Amino acid sequence: MRALALHGGPKARTRPWPAAGPRFGREELKHLREALAQNTLFYTQGRKTRQLCARMARLCGVPCVVPCSSGSAAIHAAVKACGVGPGDEVITSPITDAGTILGVVYEGAIPVFADIDPAAYNITAGSIAQRITPRTRAVIVVHLAGCPADMEPIVALCRRRKLKLIEDCAQAWGARLNGRWVGSFGTFGCFSLNDFKQISCGDGGLVVTRDKALYRHAWLAADKCYDRLGGTRAMEFVAPNYRITELQSAVALAQLGKLPRIARRRHELGERLAAGLRRIPGVIPHHVPRGGYATYWFYLIQLVPAVLGVDVVTFAQAVQAEGIPVRKGYVDPVYLAYPYLQRRSAFNHSDWPFGAAHVVPPYRKGYCPNAETVIANCLFFPLNEWLSAREVDDTLAAIRKVSEHYRSRRPSGSDARKRCSC
Ligand SMILES: *Cc1c(COP(=O)(O)O)cnc(C)c1O
Repeated sequence: MRALALHGGPKARTRPWPAAGPRFGREELKHLREALAQNTLFYTQGRKTRQLCARMARLCGVPCVVPCSSGSAAIHAAVKACGVGPGDEVITSPITDAGTILGVVYEGAIPVFADIDPAAYNITAGSIAQRITPRTRAVIVVHLAGCPADMEPIVALCRRRKLKLIEDCAQAWGARLNGRWVGSFGTFGCFSLNDFKQISCGDGGLVVTRDKALYRHAWLAADKCYDRLGGTRAMEFVAPNYRITELQSAVALAQLGKLPRIARRRHELGERLAAGLRRIPGVIPHHVPRGGYATYWFYLIQLVPAVLGVDVVTFAQAVQAEGIPVRKGYVDPVYLAYPYLQRRSAFNHSDWPFGAAHVVPPYRKGYCPNAETVIANCLFFPLNEWLSAREVDDTLAAIRKVSEHYRSRRPSGSDARKRCSC
């Protein structure tokens, strides 16, 4: 067996990792020029934002689109439109971005975390059901890393329990389930155009919905309660300025045109990686539900240390030494990672909203055991559309080499040899 690069042996991959290619070019410039020529950059007076919303509606199959300034803004507007307020609970995933729960806490509601599926990394109808109380108002499903959550049972549960359903699609541009876009299953779908997502306009967000009344409410919630659809200016409630500009919409419009190719490429690379990982003992690929089409914003490779006979940190270092840019972990479960949840105080000199809550969830170790285990045992692989099959195959070769090395060193007949069921 070849020695590990970590121990001075030859690397599985010696050529440099490919740099990112150009994301913005002629198409973006064309739309930007047209936007500037309008002599207004205001989102309701120019044409770019309108075109962006129309194109998004066509692509995702949902008729009403609210443009806004970020993915966090999109979720906040949706949360507000769902009627979430003080005393309510909103159930979501613990493995996500701060933007998922920011709007919940701003509205004085309590984020409640359901555990994730141990292989799909998304919350499930079963885990959500365990967290429902009489105070639950809404559920925010996160399609982590562009892998669709198993929506049908979740939609049925929310309908049965009369809960609003928001889909956080910030990482899931172009992801589908049974041919339908994610974001089209819930009351609202929320998308981010920040610079790190599959497509970007620097910063931006879109909310999609089929509900005409909630569409109007979400728009008010994203624009200081100015009614851009009806033209009146009644301040029915307090709402932030989460507007997009024509410049962002111009770039986003061009990016939407590039999305099908980007999504397909990420899908192909992710599926190639998954197929190879399935043949390596001690590693688990992303589980995608039947009928799901994942567009991998990144790829989490889960390790089973008991099978590999090595700890995750050492395994990650060994794969890195082979010339592959993986790292250990993704984000920690937010209920452990966020000081404002730990302190139970989100605003200046106040314990609001936690001090007034009927019950504050146990934001402690053990609250969502699957999430904690997955994060402790995963490798983050930075998948993107500029990689080729070569990078995926080299990654698989490196992981196979490291896996074989450590498995061959385990004491024979040890308990570790038994197949792990987790
Ligand atoms: C990026 C992201 C957000 C927030 O989007 P912004 O545009 O950065 O505000 C929300 N949820 C998830 C899962 C994300 O990855």
